[in-house]
Amino acid sequence: MVVVMRPGANDADVDKVVNAISDIGGEAFVSRGRHQTIIGLVGDLAQFAELPLHAFPGVEDVIRVSKPYKLVSNDAHPRPSTVWVGDVPIGRDTVTLIAGPCAVETEEQTDAACRMAKESGAAILRGGAYKPRTSPYAFQGLGEAGLDILHGVSRDLDLPFVTEVVTPADVDTVAAKADMLQVGARNMQNFQLLKEVGMAGKPVLLKRGLTATIDEWIMAAEYIAHTGNLQVVLCERGIRTYEPMTRNTLDVSAVPVAQSLTHLPVIIDPSHSGGKRDLVLPLTRAAIAVGADGIIIDVHPRPEAALCDGPQALVKDDLLTLRETVATYAAAGNREVAAPDKSRRAGAWGRSATA
Ligand code: PEP
Ligand code: MN
Repeated sequence: MVVVMRPGANDADVDKVVNAISDIGGEAFVSRGRHQTIIGLVGDLAQFAELPLHAFPGVEDVIRVSKPYKLVSNDAHPRPSTVWVGDVPIGRDTVTLIAGPCAVETEEQTDAACRMAKESGAAILRGGAYKPRTSPYAFQGLGEAGLDILHGVSRDLDLPFVTEVVTPADVDTVAAKADMLQVGARNMQNFQLLKEVGMAGKPVLLKRGLTATIDEWIMAAEYIAHTGNLQVVLCERGIRTYEPMTRNTLDVSAVPVAQSLTHLPVIIDPSHSGGKRDLVLPLTRAAIAVGADGIIIDVHPRPEAALCDGPQALVKDDLLTLRETVATYAAAGNREVAAPDKSRRAGAWGRSATA
């Protein structure tokens, strides 16, 4: 931490800061310039944070130079981590395709959408049973019945699945069936939910909030990690800007920035960012080219009848192109397209483990 003194600050002002720091066991190094004095602080950041340094006489600014997050920071863990969802990896060596319907509507629709996902090369399925909708009049999801449908389809197709949980009260129910829990954009700073989801012990997909900075997003991941659960995957899903042509603005820079700050995998959601079917493949190319560790995509057998997000769902005709796009762009970045690793199965996941 660095304390910048005002140009007019006197020696007594500087001494007050230095003494306050040494009183709590820290060290202060004073550097006097021609116009301004700066004081470098060394010691326990958490303790410094309790001192109202901004309010000391003569202080102009207090600047943090180390990262506010610890467990998810790559200082703590210099090698990128791999998060296993069932027997599927998400990490820096692979590109993982996650796909499925936006919402679980019926058993037939979920089965058809998940088969489409598998056909396009997805190694993990997605689907919402508890939907966070902007309008209370919109389809809210089938809840536990939807979870059961998705669980059944996942086991039939032999692929793990991720699904969203929107309230702490449902975490245990969802964690009992799902292979990965999603915290949606609208709940990124629901701290109680983050703690409960972390404590469930399953991998977590943490979407970036609509107006969250990268630091806020990573601090939300730190909440989950603080419960002892480091299996967190960050997902950039577009942020809100002044541009109305797309549903959200995909922040591709967020991928290399977040990867430079944390050891957690970072994936992109091209469906919710663009919000339009025609944008999904171009944004998928951008996502893999920029180094995303995976992508999560909405597919639907009949988007015109979808109860949620039909306009952005890929259709049957798109599946082959999606598969080829992921393979080509992953290979260009010297990465493999993730597939289930059956050697990790051994009772840890799958039909026998959940029967
Ligand atoms: C979703 O993935 O279905 C979803 C609601 O996404 P987001 O939270 O990013 O809007
Ligand atoms: Mn959706």
